[in-house]
Amino acid sequence: MYDSSQLMGLTPASTSLSRRPSLNQESHVANQKTLSIIKPDATAANNSGAIIARFQEEGLRIAGIRKIHMSIPEARGFYAVHAERPFYNDLVAFMTEGPCVVMVLEGDNAIARNREIMGATNPAAAAEGTLRKRFATNIERNAVHGSDSPENAAIEVAYFFRTTELF
Ligand code: ADP
Ligand code: MG
Repeated sequence: MYDSSQLMGLTPASTSLSRRPSLNQESHVANQKTLSIIKPDATAANNSGAIIARFQEEGLRIAGIRKIHMSIPEARGFYAVHAERPFYNDLVAFMTEGPCVVMVLEGDNAIARNREIMGATNPAAAAEGTLRKRFATNIERNAVHGSDSPENAAIEVAYFFRTTELF
């Protein structure tokens, strides 16, 4: 379920953005919200602006945005779904080493679009033109997070934002 290559009917990482098939009618969701995080590696490298610009160029709107420094319990809770994975403790350490930018992106098929723009979890497998190809260092320090399903998007948006903070 959390293998990014299998999510939402997305194309394999080796398929370039320009060659990806368009989403079919059935999967079209207007004005969808998804959680995006610019991770500590990317904020430290001063790449937040370039990443935000890319989302906006792709037609995703910023419905909410905040810069935060996650506590260890906050990061453990956010990634609780990965608690049994061998990389969990390292991931929590990484996500708490410095500030993040948390955002709610909104637009048609925003969940899948964000994942396409991000690229594969491992930048070595990420397609040309994706954020992870451009900004990630390795499979852990991979610049951006994006919700992987409508269920998780709802949970993740609510983890960081009140509805009154979204516009
Ligand atoms: P994605 O962020 O693409 O949805 P996952 O949900 O599988 O990927 O993993 C969550 C995050 O955990 C990744 O973005 C990455 O920062 C880290 N991660 C995933 N797999 C590994 C791994 N094998 N080794 C180290 N860190 C990993
Ligand atoms: Mg994930």
